Amino acid sequence: MSKKTNYLSEVETGGEVYITKVLGHGAFRKRITEMGFVKGKKVKVVKNAPLKDPVEYEILGYNVSLRHSEAQLIEVVSAAHYIKHSDATFNGVIDEEKLKRSAIEKGKTINVVLVGNPNSGKTTLFNLASGSHERVGNYSGVTVDVKEAKVKKQDYTFRLVDLPGTYSINEYSPEELYVRKQIIENKPDIIINVVDASNLERNLFLTTQLIDMNIKVIIALNMFDELEKKQVKFDYTALGEMLGIPIIPTIAPKGKGINELFTKLIDVYEDRDPIVRHIHINYGEIIEKYIREIQTEIWESPKIRDQFSSRFVAIKLLETDKTMLHDLQQFENYNDIKRVAAQAVEKLEKSMNEKSETILTDAKYGFIDGALKETYREGKSDKRKAKREYDDILTHRFFGFPIFIFFMWAMFQATFTLGSFPMEWIDAGVELFSSWVQASMPEGALRNLLVNGIIGGIGGIIVFLPNILILFFFISLMEDTGYMARASFIMDKLMHKIGLHGKSFIPLVMGFGCNVPAIMATRTLENKKDRILTMLIIPFMSCSARLPVYVLIISAIFPKNQGFMLFGIYMTGIFFAIITALILKKVAFAKKDVPFVMELPPYRRPTLKNTSMHMWFKGREYLNKMGSVILIASVLIWALGYFPTNIKYTKNYQFEITNLEQNTQLRSVEKSKLIDDLELDMISEKQEKSYIGQLGHAIEPVIAPLGFDWKMGVSILTGLAAKEVVVSSMGVLYHSQGNTANDTETLKNRIKEQKYSSGTLKGRAVFSPLVSISFMLFVLIYFPCVAVIAAIHKEANWGWAVFTMVYTTILAWLLSFAVYQIGSLFV
Ligand code: GDP
Ligand code: MG
Repeated sequence: MSKKTNYLSEVETGGEVYITKVLGHGAFRKRITEMGFVKGKKVKVVKNAPLKDPVEYEILGYNVSLRHSEAQLIEVVSAAHYIKHSDATFNGVIDEEKLKRSAIEKGKTINVVLVGNPNSGKTTLFNLASGSHERVGNYSGVTVDVKEAKVKKQDYTFRLVDLPGTYSINEYSPEELYVRKQIIENKPDIIINVVDASNLERNLFLTTQLIDMNIKVIIALNMFDELEKKQVKFDYTALGEMLGIPIIPTIAPKGKGINELFTKLIDVYEDRDPIVRHIHINYGEIIEKYIREIQTEIWESPKIRDQFSSRFVAIKLLETDKTMLHDLQQFENYNDIKRVAAQAVEKLEKSMNEKSETILTDAKYGFIDGALKETYREGKSDKRKAKREYDDILTHRFFGFPIFIFFMWAMFQATFTLGSFPMEWIDAGVELFSSWVQASMPEGALRNLLVNGIIGGIGGIIVFLPNILILFFFISLMEDTGYMARASFIMDKLMHKIGLHGKSFIPLVMGFGCNVPAIMATRTLENKKDRILTMLIIPFMSCSARLPVYVLIISAIFPKNQGFMLFGIYMTGIFFAIITALILKKVAFAKKDVPFVMELPPYRRPTLKNTSMHMWFKGREYLNKMGSVILIASVLIWALGYFPTNIKYTKNYQFEITNLEQNTQLRSVEKSKLIDDLELDMISEKQEKSYIGQLGHAIEPVIAPLGFDWKMGVSILTGLAAKEVVVSSMGVLYHSQGNTANDTETLKNRIKEQKYSSGTLKGRAVFSPLVSISFMLFVLIYFPCVAVIAAIHKEANWGWAVFTMVYTTILAWLLSFAVYQIGSLFV
């Protein structure tokens, strides 16, 4: 930068200056320009004392304060400077307009550096653009010298700098360090990334590092002649749109594309190029988690953010980059950052079993692979060999889809068949435990609470733990091997049809496990609208918490068509997800698609240890839920069913039972049956008159048209906390036919035998096939659960969270209503 340049930080109190340029990286520039600090604007220094932070300024008629470090990034020209250097004779009057124009004139110097791999043609391009005659050739690694040239084009002055060639901007060679220093310290306005078109994959690696740095970049797609020779089809426009970087094809020795390059430089400099946007390379769930951890610590020190993109710093630290660590020493929370970063690196390496640097490099190549896969078609004599030979099959135009469907089918199949064995063991264990508690405790409220409330509630759910862990295991396996990314690739076209992107697919699949992490996973989507749309349809992905309800009812009512019924339920969910997406796309999110890259990370051989660990991370949440929400809900439901204890019964059961017991005329078998019936009537009357029974009856008018009895109504209400609770509530509520443990097997039988004991429906089965379907659909669609709503609130806002609550519940009601009412006409 020229020595004559003044910065806003150097202007003394009372000084008036005009802004010529705002330096710094993307986020900083954006914030500062939003505050009004743009080229040509006048700023008055209200208060600036040395060592005083922040400094107060007046701009656009109001006062703002900036930190010293921020003001250092704003280039200004003083009124005095203008007067001294202007040709006009000073007559005591300062012409504001002229000053402003002078500021704009001065702002018309664009600092550009050329960055690229060795032999990508930087020097050739530099020479042609500047008209100088530097020797071209491969000098890489010999010297670190810089050539500079000034070029005037269309009212603008370009300061071009040719930097030494590098394959990356790490810290391994003096060249790399040098390039990095040039970019970070001198803050050029725009970088021309010279990319050798005949070796895209390797060249674009450097580009990914530039993207991380959040700086303005233009790609000169050099050696374009080579590309044409090879007859490849390369949609570089689409690639540019995905990367948010304009791409100009060039043939440096012929000077082809150089004028276009200059024009583009001006457009980008003046912020009027529609393609330019800052994208985040998605490094995958695990890496992103650690990036965020480090970023959070970096944010503690706002000064860092003036100089670097916090994401870039975090990524560099995760790569254990020593230079970055060194650069951070000047900031007060250096030690904290260092500690947090070291921990993150350790955890990352442990979880992926690989050096962190390799992990990030692989992820970057995954990004490039994905980007090229969508835009690049090999030519006849092309040597860009498919390193990832599985991709030929797994993402094949025709075979990819059936293979994917097969994997999904296998996953669900395994979840249920493998899961059924441990399910039985747990089932037996719970039953044993329950009878042991029953036998070893004196009768009373406490025993009742333990057996019917806690063991009944939790026990009814814990049996599904194996299924859930197996499902999580497969999802983790697909992620760990890299197949999940291919799956989204295949799904991309289909997803576009409903206004989504292939990338939305992973969160949607994760939704089958648990909606909460799925909603958090939408962060990988770049576009806010895509994110929200995906979030809104995730609740239709039937999560594992709903599975117990289906398994219970299907095994009780539809023992012959279990697989088919389950498949049907899941499909119904997907169907409504599609419908919802289509409607929302029309109504709320009519927009143009912003294309973005779908990363194709390398295939990895999964290890049992890693995959189990990832399964465990996902499953842990489920266990937490059992220990908290479900436990509390179970106790609450039990209490609501147990109290009040002073019920006025319609008849004196106790008296009648005693009478029967003393009756000598009846045979003992008949007698005990009559007694059992009486006891049963008494328990159900008690339950019906309990608080929960009253609650159930209160909502009966709303749910009766759906075919539900009040117990189903209560179960649905309690399911607002978490959908597993629906089953544990049923466990507690339909307990009335026996006093043994409350495991699924017996609950299943109870549900099957449940009959209306009074009213017009007396004697009819409560769970008729039609009611069962209506009920399962309701559980599938209605209010996801408190945790999901909280997650949507956090990731989007309250509005969408409320929308989800209302929309899903109304939809569920309408669907169940239609199924039950229309079905009743035929059955
Ligand atoms: P640098 O290392 O990036 O500075 O690359 P150079 O400018 O030294 O170029 C390396 C070699 O590539 C030279 O022999 C150039 O003539 C050649 N070259 C540069 N640009 C092109 C191009 O667009 N097409 C072709 N065919 N050759 C090029
Ligand atoms: Mg060179």
